[in-house]
Amino acid sequence: MVLRLRYPAPDDWQDAKCQDYVNNTGDDPFFSDDPEVSQRAVDFCNGTKDGNICPIRHECLLFALTNNEKFGVWGGTNEITRKAIRKRYPLKGREPRPEWRHQTEQEALKGLNRDELQKELEKEQAESA
Ligand code: SF4
Repeated sequence: MVLRLRYPAPDDWQDAKCQDYVNNTGDDPFFSDDPEVSQRAVDFCNGTKDGNICPIRHECLLFALTNNEKFGVWGGTNEITRKAIRKRYPLKGREPRPEWRHQTEQEALKGLNRDELQKELEKEQAESA
């Protein structure tokens, strides 16, 4: 399969906090269907427990939003959070929106219908699986 990225990967992926995480821990919470496990990845990116936010969190988030990554934790966000951000600020063209920034799930979903978003997300995921 050839990936056609709208937006390139960050130049500084090597600074990613999750670099070697899976190899070192044997654990991959970044692509889990279990919300509790997935939350561990969100917390890891955001330094919730250790105070160390991933140094490329913003770039990682822009990459995922621009390329409409429908699965996994990217940029300290889960799938429904990114869906909400893109709903509020849809992609125009191929460049990231200036409004895109890290938000908690609660912030991103404010004023939006979570159930509707979840249904849309599941449909998109099924179509892309
Ligand atoms: S923000 Fe992206 S690069 Fe950084 S730890 Fe999370 S998933 Fe890895």
